[in-house]
Amino acid sequence: MSDKAGAWLENKITILPGISDKRAKMFARLGVERIHDLLWLQPRSYEDWQERVPINSLRDGTVSSFMAVLENIPALSRHGKLTTLRARLSDPSGSIQAVWFNQPWVADRLRRGVSYLFRGRIEGEGRRRQVVNPDIRLQDQDGLPDYLPVYPLTAGLYQSTVRQAVKAALDQAGFFKEETLPPAIRSSARLATADFAMRRIHFPACLRDIELARRRLAFEELFLVMAGLRSLKSGRHRQKGPAMTVGRDTEDWLAEQIDRLPFELTSSQAGALQDILEDFRKQVPANRLVQGDVGSGKTVVAAMAMAAACREGWQSVMMAPTTILAGQHAETISELLAGSGLEIALLTGATPAAQRRSLLAGLEEGAIDILIGTHAVLEGDLVFSRLACCVTDEQHRFGVAQRISLSSRGDRIPHVLVMSATPIPRTLAMILYGDLDISEIKEMPAGRLPVKTYTATEKDRTRIDQLMRSQIEKGFKVYVVCPMIEDSETVAAHSADAVHERLSKHIFPDKRVALMHGRLRAGEKLAVMDAFGRGELDILVSTTVIEVGIDQPDANLLVVENAERFGLSQLHQLRGRVGRSSRQSYCVLVSDSQDPLIRKRLQTLCRHHSGFAIADQDLLLRGPGDLFGVAQHGLPDFKVANLYEDSELLREAAAACDQLFRQDPFLEKKENAMIMEAFRFRYGKRLEHPGL
Ligand code: ADP
Ligand code: MG
Repeated sequence: MSDKAGAWLENKITILPGISDKRAKMFARLGVERIHDLLWLQPRSYEDWQERVPINSLRDGTVSSFMAVLENIPALSRHGKLTTLRARLSDPSGSIQAVWFNQPWVADRLRRGVSYLFRGRIEGEGRRRQVVNPDIRLQDQDGLPDYLPVYPLTAGLYQSTVRQAVKAALDQAGFFKEETLPPAIRSSARLATADFAMRRIHFPACLRDIELARRRLAFEELFLVMAGLRSLKSGRHRQKGPAMTVGRDTEDWLAEQIDRLPFELTSSQAGALQDILEDFRKQVPANRLVQGDVGSGKTVVAAMAMAAACREGWQSVMMAPTTILAGQHAETISELLAGSGLEIALLTGATPAAQRRSLLAGLEEGAIDILIGTHAVLEGDLVFSRLACCVTDEQHRFGVAQRISLSSRGDRIPHVLVMSATPIPRTLAMILYGDLDISEIKEMPAGRLPVKTYTATEKDRTRIDQLMRSQIEKGFKVYVVCPMIEDSETVAAHSADAVHERLSKHIFPDKRVALMHGRLRAGEKLAVMDAFGRGELDILVSTTVIEVGIDQPDANLLVVENAERFGLSQLHQLRGRVGRSSRQSYCVLVSDSQDPLIRKRLQTLCRHHSGFAIADQDLLLRGPGDLFGVAQHGLPDFKVANLYEDSELLREAAAACDQLFRQDPFLEKKENAMIMEAFRFRYGKRLEHPGL
């Protein structure tokens, strides 16, 4: 794609005839702002004007095309503002009534005794059967296509408007003559040309066109993402990472830190740490995903990795998605590394200005070894003296671009570690993380018991209260999670406010019950979390703000109110807040929903304990439309390709990608230049590392 064509596609759709600012706003609701978006707006289906259904075979509820003669002059009637036009249509097989609401002008287009093509929704059966608001074509009207695209719409936007806009865009210049795939790949994968695919996906001449166009466009999406990420990865091999040797000295020192921990590392924790040290030795900036289920102990791996980099004379930074989590990490990591002599600092949006200034000075001078914080660590005025290791926790909460902007400071590109509990099938990981190496933490720390999980209904309320009391009296802590903060008139569900009121005033006036939700100020949230962390609270009533990362090993009971309102992955994350010690923990999913699908999903959690198993079940129960974790992983939203349905195409694209990189590892050949151009154009802002 040349700059010229690329630039044209970047234009706002308002340059097209008939697209006012007002219409552009409606298009924007469909995610269409630029010409490029418009062309990639995929038809949901097609109007088939080519099929000719005999009138006696027209079925209730279908949208059908049929040829018929107008039997009588259409009759117009009025009811207040509503006009209704009726006519009888017939063919040799039978007849049907047509009705048009509020389209009196249709009468002028029709002549009695003439044959037309009609297309519309059939409603009713037998004598009551009619076709509602059918579109009309003169028989064999020239120039009208047999298939018309049907686009998703929003209020105020008409099918005809979208069609005209797409057609206008396609009619401009012949820019699709420019390919986004190298000829060799196109021919070996038997793909249609870009021009054919883009035109025919919108205006196919026959059904086969749709298939060919779709295949080409889906392949292109999958291939470009895979090849693009892979190219970034191979490009990284030519960059300079921080120079570290990580020799005997550092290893011994690290072993001392690990010995001081109150527990032994599991073998997968040790393995992940070794992978990271190996990355450090390579002096090529690493990009590693450390994937492990909730509670598998990722924090200590990150802490030791950061410490090793510091021991080698560099700095490390860790970014967490919330102020609470950042604060907690700072505390945990300070404890884990107590005695290491490393200087650890916390920076969040709530850090007072004066403290922030001195912290920034410390970073620049190299007095601070490890910085832990929220997005605040990404701010432009932060300067590290020697940054070597960037960790992001629960990365799906960040855009990819953000995690990368951290890594692009200084002349050496730092290593990037991503800690994530979101399980994704491995094949998918290969695409999403084409540029990432993966370490898996497979086992849980020794002695962990699976969280006993039960479903309950409102009828069990007293028993749930009793269970809470008995746990608290044994010295344990309890989480109660609610789907909303306040009561609402429109949603019948327990709010955190109401549950807190009930528990603190009526059920447990003798216990320490606190409330926590996203609308509290950062300082208040921290105070509550601190108190909970120190064991000064018995019950924490909260919204899902506790979903990520919070660690209070004494909490052993989680009650989820209106469990039907949460996704499976979310419930799994929430459940990860308990079961963080060797004592038995419990999770109670409260829901009065009778929906069999919801009951099944909740049962899944009772039966399964690993994130991977739950992800699989989720996929089975939900179908491929709504993928567990994928959107959270910063995956580009594919417009045509479907990662599950197109698995065969995915394999083909992967094979093509392998072949390509065997022949041209750095995509330096002229005929392959278009790949990275297209990748940057399409996904650059989301997936690409700036400045690489
Ligand atoms: P996650 O992977 O969900 O981030 P954490 O790092 O928060 O998990 O660890 C969960 C809990 O397990 C913490 O209390 C941590 O101290 C503890 N832990 C981590 N590793 C081990 C281990 N090898 N043995 C025992 N406890 C461990
Ligand atoms: Mg964690």
